[in-house]
Amino acid sequence: MNPPEAPERGWKAEIARRLEQGDGLEFTLAQFAQAVGTAAEDEALREFLDQAIESGGLKKIEAFRCPMPECKKVLSPAGAPYSACPYCLTDYREEGVEVITETFYQLAGETSRDIRWMIVVHGMNSRAKWQEEFSWQIANRLRYSAPVLIYKYGWVTIDVLVCWLHRKLAKRLGERMRIAIAQAEASQRPPRPDIIAHSFGTHLLSMVLTNPDFEDLKFGRVITAGSVIRPDFDWDSLIENGRVEAVLNHVGGKDKPVQVAQFAIPGTGPGGRVGYTARTTINVCAPTFKHSDFFLPENLRAQIADGGLWHNFLTHPLEHFTPEGRLVPVSWKRAPLVIRSATRGLGYAVFAMFAPFSWLRRRLDP
Ligand SMILES: [Zn+2]
Repeated sequence: MNPPEAPERGWKAEIARRLEQGDGLEFTLAQFAQAVGTAAEDEALREFLDQAIESGGLKKIEAFRCPMPECKKVLSPAGAPYSACPYCLTDYREEGVEVITETFYQLAGETSRDIRWMIVVHGMNSRAKWQEEFSWQIANRLRYSAPVLIYKYGWVTIDVLVCWLHRKLAKRLGERMRIAIAQAEASQRPPRPDIIAHSFGTHLLSMVLTNPDFEDLKFGRVITAGSVIRPDFDWDSLIENGRVEAVLNHVGGKDKPVQVAQFAIPGTGPGGRVGYTARTTINVCAPTFKHSDFFLPENLRAQIADGGLWHNFLTHPLEHFTPEGRLVPVSWKRAPLVIRSATRGLGYAVFAMFAPFSWLRRRLDP
């Protein structure tokens, strides 16, 4: 036998599930009763819902329903009282019937959200299979068609060692984003794309976000994976100022490259390992993931599938978003300047030596 409070726990779970998914926020007593496997006459269920109303999370709405069996449409309270049905045009007095009064319950929560369109900014040289896989998965797994722009910046090798090249690449990315946003608006899509950025792509994204020339660009929800953005990056201001709607940072517990990033790439840090310290960001750790594991086909599939972390983050209301593996980062300090300068000095030397080679390679292998 279940303890007496057991059904109520199930009802609470059903409410929590609806709030989390932003789905089924409006329901009749009969619909809810059916969903939790009890009868609409259940006194305890009615009491439970009344209590939820008292505590403010639930609202009761009186609506009306056409009594004609072939119609049964819900009639909005705004048009009451009804002497005839606006849908089937039945005159109720003539037919000798009365409008049915029906109680609806409405949960105070945000509704779920669609993925409108998306820009993916990959890491260095990742012309790998995952880009094809990604477009394919997005097109197949999602219920709606969301165009995906996979931004390519060609073949970068030792170029990552120097700042001015980053600025150039970031500028090009920002300009490309601006064009895509204008195109989206022209084709009646919402102006804010969702973003997925990986590795060096996260650094370029952060440079676009902090460049005053691109202040007009606004984004939806942003996912960073294998991030080399500094853990203390000021996401809070970007979110408060409406530049970015929300940020999910997917951390790989076994990601090594992000830990050395700050010693090789100026302006970067181990965000993909430490997490972001900004209060408004969501850090989630996949303990076994290495730097590029997020994009292995089977992992990618799992993230994008219904109920997957990325899919949930992109579609669910975030007020009730509580993913497993949430990471709360401790504070972070950059490595001492003297060490960063030394390693970077070495970096510039390497760049000076190999730059012609890198240039040649980019020409040959774009
Ligand atoms: Zn009707």
